[in-house]
Amino acid sequence: MNRFTYERHIPVKRFGQNFLKNKTIINTIIQKMHLKTIDSVIEIGPGLGALTFPICNIVEKITVLEIDENIIFLLLKSKYYKHVKMILTDVIKFDFHYFFSLNTSILYRLIGNLPYNIATCLLINLIQYNVYIFDMHFMFQKEVAHRLLAIPGNKKYGKLSVLAQYFYKIIPVLDVDRYNFFPAPKVDSVFLRFIPYNKFNQNKINRYFFALEQITRMAFQHRRKFLINNLSKLFSEKTLLKFNINPFLRAEDVSIHQYYLLAKNFLKLYV
Ligand code: SAM
Repeated sequence: MNRFTYERHIPVKRFGQNFLKNKTIINTIIQKMHLKTIDSVIEIGPGLGALTFPICNIVEKITVLEIDENIIFLLLKSKYYKHVKMILTDVIKFDFHYFFSLNTSILYRLIGNLPYNIATCLLINLIQYNVYIFDMHFMFQKEVAHRLLAIPGNKKYGKLSVLAQYFYKIIPVLDVDRYNFFPAPKVDSVFLRFIPYNKFNQNKINRYFFALEQITRMAFQHRRKFLINNLSKLFSEKTLLKFNINPFLRAEDVSIHQYYLLAKNFLKLYV
């Protein structure tokens, strides 16, 4: 292996190709997913198969979504090719709605060592498909993982924390430092598990996603300002007090439950 090639492939920077190379980390990740033979797994960005191939040893079939045609070509040449349904696509543009509607009785298990530039956007996109998802395991750069896990009062608690934690139970699975990848990225990572809350039907997901998106965007626009100022266009002081929310709190001190109450009220008032 020289500086540029890895398993006969030159990693493409714009596709965030930092391949997992540490077998112990890979095995731990697979173990912690508790996969079963009958699981329907979708992997986003299989790369050179670091996770795909060990998963093939457990499940009957895995679907992979990959943007790089050279990678698809290499996967086609692997001994696992018959176990892997390969879809050449940009996952951000992929029609998940169509894909999931092909068999609505399946609850999918998603996995991905995601490229950093699309990770949060993809996670937020996937909220709307939660009814089709059993769980998801994704690698995030540490800073983003901390924002996803942040609790009220923490500087990292923001719009992303509220949206993600409202729709998913998020569990940190494993810290993965940068030297476990080739090439090594500039930052460390954390592997997270996301379990969609099953209390939501599709209609509720769409409505609450819309409401929370609007409210958190305004609430966190000026972090140092009080709620009463940031949310003045949506809620009066009286409404905030009605929900036991102190109007002179800052957005970062409002709990997920309080955001839920605001979203419920927003939907009553405006939608
Ligand atoms: N899973 C492999 C591993 O752990 O070694 C590769 C992970 S690498 C960080 C990210 C993978 O996602 C690459 O295979 C890359 O080509 C693919 N990828 C990047 N952007 C993508 C996109 N928009 N849609 C689908 N795949 C993408």
